[in-house]
Amino acid sequence: MRSPVHVGERVPPGTIAFDVLTRDELNPAAAGTTLVFPLGSTEQHAHHLPTRTDSACVDAIAHRSARLAAEQVPVLVAPTLPFGCAHHHLPLGATLSLTTSTYVDLLCDLVGGAVREGFRSVVLLNGHGGNDSAIRLAVDRLVHEERLDLHIAAASYWVLADDVLRAHGFASPGHAGHFETSLMLALEPDLVHLDRRVTDPTEWTPLGRPDIPGASIRRPGLWEASDGRTDDAARATAELGAALVDEIVAVVARFLVRFHRSTPAGGSDVAGAFVSHQPAED
Ligand SMILES: [Zn+2]
Repeated sequence: MRSPVHVGERVPPGTIAFDVLTRDELNPAAAGTTLVFPLGSTEQHAHHLPTRTDSACVDAIAHRSARLAAEQVPVLVAPTLPFGCAHHHLPLGATLSLTTSTYVDLLCDLVGGAVREGFRSVVLLNGHGGNDSAIRLAVDRLVHEERLDLHIAAASYWVLADDVLRAHGFASPGHAGHFETSLMLALEPDLVHLDRRVTDPTEWTPLGRPDIPGASIRRPGLWEASDGRTDDAARATAELGAALVDEIVAVVARFLVRFHRSTPAGGSDVAGAFVSHQPAED
C-alpha cells in the first residue's frame, strides 16, 4: 500500500484542504505543492435541484480526486468559489453571477496572490459551463501577459472525464437534467426534490451549440424557453450518480498526478486541459 505523500513536513498526512491549515503549515509547503481551485456557480437548476448544484459537484470531485492524488503527489484544495459567469440564468431568477471581466480579474487576483506566496503549480478545476471560456482567458493573462512564474492548467471536470460521460451515454453534462440530478442524488440527496423534477422528454439546447457544430452561438430567449434545463431528469438515480462520481474522480486524480509531475517545459501534453506555463528560458 502506498503511504500518503505529505504536502510539507508540517502539513498533517492526508490533509488536502487549504482552509483548515495554518500559515506555519502552508507556507513551507507552497513551492512544492499543486494548488487546486474548484470553480462553482450559484444559479437556478430548474424546479428540483438547489442553486449550489455546480458548486457541490465540483467541490466533491475536487476533494475526492485530490485525496486520491495526494497518495502520490503533494496537492492542496482551495475553498470552492461559489460564484461564476451565469448571466444566462439571470432571467429565470435564483442566480448570483459575475460578469466575465470581473470573473477573470477575480481568478487572476487569487492565483496571482498564491504565486506571491510561493505556489508555482495551480489547477483551475471548473464545474460550470459558463466559466469555461473565462478560465482560459485567465490562464493566458496570468502567464503570457502578467508573465508569472507559474505552471497552470484550466479544465472543466466533464471535459477531462469525457470518456466516462460517453461510456454512460452522455454527450455533455447538460443542465438540471439526467446527469446533474443523478450526481446530486448521490452527493446531497436531501437537497433534491424529486417530486418537482421535470419529466418532459423534450431536449433543449439553450446555448444553441448543436445548430452549427464548432461555432459558439448565442441568442436571447433560449434559456427562458427551456425552463432552465436541457434534458429529462426522470431516469436519474443515486446509483448512476455514485458510479459517475467515482469514475470522474479517478480520471481527475490521474490528471492531477500527471499535471504535478509534468515540468513547465513539458506540461502541454495533458489531455483535456488547457495548460499554460512560463517558458523555461524565461
Ligand atoms: Zn449545473
